[in-house]
Amino acid sequence: MTHTHAGPPGPEETALAAATTPEPGIVTCDACPVLCRIRAGKTGACDRYGNVDGRLTRMDPLTVLTRAPDAVRFAGDDWDGNPIAAKDVFVTAIGAGTTYPDYKPAPFIVGSEIDGVDMVTVVSEGIFSYCGLKVKIDTDRHLGAETAAVRARGEIVGHVTTAEYGSQMFSLGGVHHLTGGSKKEGVVACETMLSLSNGDAVELAVDGGASVRVQSGAAPVVDGVPEQRMRVGCGSATIGIFASQWLGHADEVIVVDDHITGVLTEHQAGRFLDMCPAGIRVRGRRSTPGRYFQVANPGLGWGGTDVVDPLAIIEKIDQKIAWPGLRLLMVSTTGEHSAWFVLDDALRPQPASMPPAIANAVARIGENCEPALCTVLFMAGAGGSLRAGATENPVLLTRAVQRGRARVTSGGAPVYVWPGGGITFMVDVATLPANAFGSVPTPALVAPIEFSLPLADYAALGGHIGLVRRVADVLAQSKPRGVLLPKGVAFPIG
Ligand code: SF4
Repeated sequence: MTHTHAGPPGPEETALAAATTPEPGIVTCDACPVLCRIRAGKTGACDRYGNVDGRLTRMDPLTVLTRAPDAVRFAGDDWDGNPIAAKDVFVTAIGAGTTYPDYKPAPFIVGSEIDGVDMVTVVSEGIFSYCGLKVKIDTDRHLGAETAAVRARGEIVGHVTTAEYGSQMFSLGGVHHLTGGSKKEGVVACETMLSLSNGDAVELAVDGGASVRVQSGAAPVVDGVPEQRMRVGCGSATIGIFASQWLGHADEVIVVDDHITGVLTEHQAGRFLDMCPAGIRVRGRRSTPGRYFQVANPGLGWGGTDVVDPLAIIEKIDQKIAWPGLRLLMVSTTGEHSAWFVLDDALRPQPASMPPAIANAVARIGENCEPALCTVLFMAGAGGSLRAGATENPVLLTRAVQRGRARVTSGGAPVYVWPGGGITFMVDVATLPANAFGSVPTPALVAPIEFSLPLADYAALGGHIGLVRRVADVLAQSKPRGVLLPKGVAFPIG
């Protein structure tokens, strides 16, 4: 191992040095139940802690968020102690260390004055067995049936869950995959979650479905094909949006969609425009006029169906209503698939060259689609022992969070805390600084978590008041890594 740590130990290292065993040159890490015995110059099983000059040391630098990059210097510079910096710097839990199962206070309990109010932030890297990812994949392509198993490297790491508007959803990880199956399943589930949480790409395969490459902030790649567009809406919505633009250029428009296939002249929008019925009936189950469910099977073709030839979804053409020369547009909900037909004398649709006005209308659908992305939310429960690192009476912290008196952040990023019991939170991994997540071999994920609240409230809930350290002291002693607060993201406290 090559380590870059230099300089005198900070207080956290000094505290951790108490874990040194009598065995010469070996330190025992007590930051998680694995209790690694680490030889000089080596790191423990998770690479998060190492033996540096006989001291147990967190190997990654503490990360602080700053909204005023000029106010402080970081990463080993001597900080000049400028007190203005306190309100501009937020100490995150990234690199802070762990005290699981929290029989000791959190690694950092930081005091600062924000807008005239004394605040405290309790900072810790939580170890989460109860954690998972909710992955939103912007595509209409059929990735697999709901509840189908999702695999990474052959191991089941999650399942397909309820689809959302324009997106397929996966639920990955969770305690049952981490600890309830084989050891290999747990390891792969943990590694999959860690990679996705830190913004890396992962190949996933759905049983009976597609393979998909998922990466936070990037387009999904389905069976090797990068997804381009998120649909503008379902087939019915697409008709509602664009009906007036088709009027006068087409006699019928059928928008092929796995959810609702729309038929313009039957649809309320077509009637509103006084369009004549075209007599073209599509397959599937009619929901309401001009809106059809299940015109085909789900798949990777037109509009998330298995349709390759759009005419396959036409059940019949009414000889009494349709007419020779009738102009028919068939299009998908992203505009990626489109075809133009004109009925011949026998009322059979014949492919024809698409008029410019229709080509423009199809392009308009594509223009209105948002780029297809993958979004990864990390979800975990912090309502357990982690609270003991903050207070001797943990339920009071839970109540403070539930009442909005204590704010929860993850690496400084805003989180959503679920209503009800516990402290179950979700955070978009894209809003955290790089490499904010880690893991331990139990297996479990390590994620940063901070609780910020007024000092008076912290005292009232039995907080470890005697261990509150000024931001200035933390900066001076910990040689942190400074990360600029992303534009548009609110400062975590205040
Ligand atoms: S796995 Fe990591 S945190 Fe756990 S004891 Fe080993 S070095 Fe420490």
